[in-house]
Amino acid sequence: MILLLGGTAEARELAAALAGEARVVSSLAGRVSAPRLPEGEVRIGGFGGPDGLARWLAEHGVQAVVDATHPFAERIGASAVIAARQAGVPLLRLQRPGWRQTDGDDWHWADTLDDAAEKVRTLGERVFLTSGRQGLAAFAGCTGQWFLARCVDPPEPPLPPRIEILLDRGPYSPASEAALLRAHRIDLLVTKDSGGTMTSAKLTAARERGIPVVVVRRPPRPGAPAVADVDAALAWVRDRLAG
Ligand code: NAP
Repeated sequence: MILLLGGTAEARELAAALAGEARVVSSLAGRVSAPRLPEGEVRIGGFGGPDGLARWLAEHGVQAVVDATHPFAERIGASAVIAARQAGVPLLRLQRPGWRQTDGDDWHWADTLDDAAEKVRTLGERVFLTSGRQGLAAFAGCTGQWFLARCVDPPEPPLPPRIEILLDRGPYSPASEAALLRAHRIDLLVTKDSGGTMTSAKLTAARERGIPVVVVRRPPRPGAPAVADVDAALAWVRDRLAG
């Protein structure tokens, strides 16, 4: 059996590509109320840290693990490295490349969400926040700005005092993103460097409208062999199944 740590478009693509070829169990954290489900078997919920995950790998006779979680899902990434080592199971990290600044972009890199909140104070007044529900607390102290925050599920306090919540999930188009920026008179965008195409339309729209963007850098991920696309992960899994 292959364990696929998911919650991303790439994980769903890999699960679909492996359907009928191997027994794949996709694992989701259970954070969103109605997750997009991958093809095939799915389990939902944490494993109970690295030890719990190592036990799960041993008990289920897992042949290989692919960590295809989001670039900002630090804890499960660290857990996978420790657990795979403990259980003696090969591990691959599938991580999409980060976004690149191009001509016309006005990007301001932030090391963390707190750092992004500091930058917001001087860069804009009407801010489109796309850093996710769990990232909103970092902006709670920004009292001088108005925020439009887009997330999949309703957020919980603490939140900035002046905020409108937009419940939605990608993919989005540059035209719809531009319309959103215009309708709310947005003058600053905040995003994590998630990478990929599902949510990149906002960057195109910001560039076209000359709006600066605060981009939160990816956290470091612990060492594991890594690939950047689904085809390479598929080849790696097939090698493990053949061996
Ligand atoms: P996290 O901080 O790394 O994980 C927190 C805990 O949630 C982990 O310690 C683990 O619990 C559990 N967990 C996380 N991913 C899991 C998975 N795929 N299967 C089973 N348990 C999982 O992660 P997060 O940032 O909260 O993200 C949660 C999930 O949402 C991830 O799977 C990620 O791919 C997806 N996601 C995250 C973001 C983001 O911006 N962070 C964006 C889009 C999608 P135990 O320690 O108990 O095993």
